[in-house]
Amino acid sequence: MNPLKLSPPQWRVLRYLAIHSASATRVGFLATKLRDLTGASPEDLGGLADLGHVTGRLHGSVEAPARSIVITARAHPKLRIHLTQAGKNAAAPIEAAFRALRHLRTHGPLPVATLQDDAGVGDDTLTELEALGFIEITPICPECHEPAQHDEPSSWTPAWGRPPSWSHLDGEPLCPVVGVNGYEPATPTPKDRQIALTSFGRRYAEPYTRQDQS
Ligand SMILES: [Zn+2]
Repeated sequence: MNPLKLSPPQWRVLRYLAIHSASATRVGFLATKLRDLTGASPEDLGGLADLGHVTGRLHGSVEAPARSIVITARAHPKLRIHLTQAGKNAAAPIEAAFRALRHLRTHGPLPVATLQDDAGVGDDTLTELEALGFIEITPICPECHEPAQHDEPSSWTPAWGRPPSWSHLDGEPLCPVVGVNGYEPATPTPKDRQIALTSFGRRYAEPYTRQDQS
């Protein structure tokens, strides 16, 4: 399963465990503490155990950590959660995705190149985030950076020649640039695209506060 499809609390659990991976592997963290910090439910933790991302054991027990304990002892106050290697692997793409989403939450919609440079996010991550509905990528006018549509301008007159294939959303031609025949409407290149969070993506970028649960 693609780790980006996990729930927002599950992202937070894996990110927290990966940031503290030495302790998370060796001694684990109390499930009660993890739930407090991340808003994860016992079912969220059970789901991560099902996928092999975490294991559990009871504090003080000499048994090796096991996935099943996360489910069978879900309400036990001494349950400790350990990060597995698979969980560590799953946390890496989540961290990259989170960096992009958090950057967009802070700065608002950004041109693709700006987000890539400032947040260190690759094409692959952006393609995946778009496919999964976390972000929307839309073409923009290269000059004014307002959204552009792949439609002929409605205000175009045949006397002006062949209509350009792009326009602003209000139907006006894109802003003028100097071309071979003088001024002509700009044409967006693949770089002239803007990325914005969707409301779904925003849920993953918001910091967790305990008030979320009340
Ligand atoms: Zn424009």
